[in-house]
Amino acid sequence: MGVPVSATSKKLFGTDGVRGVVNKWLTPEQVTRLALAIGSFFKEGSKLLVGRDARAGNSFIVNSVISALLSTGVKVYYAGLAPTPALQYYVKHHDFDGGVIVTASHNPPEYSGIKVIMDDGIEAPRDVESEIEAIYWELKFRRPSWSTLGGDIRRVDDVNEFYIKGILDLLDIERIRRQKMKVVVDPGNNVGSLTTPKLLRALNMKVTVVNGDLSHIPDRPPEPVPENLQETASIVKALKADLGIAHDGDADRAIFIDDGGRVIPGDRSAILLCKHIVKNRGETEPSRVVTAVSSSTLVEDLLRKYGIEVIWTRVGSIDISRTMTSIGAIAGFEENGGFMYPRHQYVRDGAMALGLMLEFLSTERRRLSELYDEMPKRHIIKTKIPIKNREEALKAIEVLKVQYRSKRIIDVDGIKVIDKSYWFLVRPSGTEPVLRIFVESDTEELAKNIYNEVVSTIKDLLR
Ligand code: MG
Repeated sequence: MGVPVSATSKKLFGTDGVRGVVNKWLTPEQVTRLALAIGSFFKEGSKLLVGRDARAGNSFIVNSVISALLSTGVKVYYAGLAPTPALQYYVKHHDFDGGVIVTASHNPPEYSGIKVIMDDGIEAPRDVESEIEAIYWELKFRRPSWSTLGGDIRRVDDVNEFYIKGILDLLDIERIRRQKMKVVVDPGNNVGSLTTPKLLRALNMKVTVVNGDLSHIPDRPPEPVPENLQETASIVKALKADLGIAHDGDADRAIFIDDGGRVIPGDRSAILLCKHIVKNRGETEPSRVVTAVSSSTLVEDLLRKYGIEVIWTRVGSIDISRTMTSIGAIAGFEENGGFMYPRHQYVRDGAMALGLMLEFLSTERRRLSELYDEMPKRHIIKTKIPIKNREEALKAIEVLKVQYRSKRIIDVDGIKVIDKSYWFLVRPSGTEPVLRIFVESDTEELAKNIYNEVVSTIKDLLR
């Protein structure tokens, strides 16, 4: 998880930007060096938009970032507090060469992080990250002459408003407004509270916000997973709300809670949104969606009848975004609640996902719980086992490939084995020395059996 990184691997960027604990690894010195490398990567005179989430420490981090960027001769525009997708949308639609976002997304509150976006608003591709890392390690910073360093920091004040308007422009507002639903919003004490309640009020919803203060020490952990959302789910139920929506720290994820207080996994809500895009919005070209191997195979099973093909990628939103831009897709998503709607932008976009869900419920005039109940229920096991190093992980994956060679295998990231009544995924984590294991099957018993079989194979090998 953004941990610094051995001097041998020279990798600073993890699955999604550089992450570290504030004032342990992310010190002003460290941030300055990294931002010097980022500024030196962009051409002199480039225009970069900088923004941040509300985490503790981000005030000093963003000031270190801006200071270092200015010294490399780029022009800095500062947006202040904003969700990641709002900054991305602004960069995409204005004349910027890129941006820097100070956020650690869903990580625990002691973390912060830095991510770089390109002029299309999408996260920097892996080769750009490698270039920035090379500049960082070799200390090849651009240091222009004093006489060229003129400009002030320019303040940009309309990032969040511009983002909300962009979402509203894509929706059937009148249809949604007529429903006047009751919605509970849980932005996890972070920047989603600056945009999502406003979007909902513009759509005539009755809004209740929980965990809405921009508090440096949040009331719940930032990751919107079921164990962190039990209180919010009980509020949805108690208020008889139509649905709940929870974000991670930078509000690019949207996790829905149905009117019965059930937290819906992100790949399941994505299936509903894809169905809506095809069935009600009539968007069928190109008829494919992109998702990472960690999503359920239910995605294929349930979207097939709409003629949709599923393209599986590595885990990591950058891989999904870049695959979508190169081959085209009506949507892309992760099982953690990151949903991408390319008509808006090719990045995870929490408030856009919410807008589409409200449009879906208004069009079908049905409750979220009913739609969720129509999906087959599967038993899910998600866990991890420690490993020594990457070589060991790769060896385990090779052995599993042989053992399950008669099954359908997807091997773009670890190994995913698919059978009629179950699937499992074993992949090395991008951020810690563990193998991540996902098993999903029709029954609990089968899930446990498959899990035990896979784990004993791995353990035999590691012994
Ligand atoms: Mg995030």
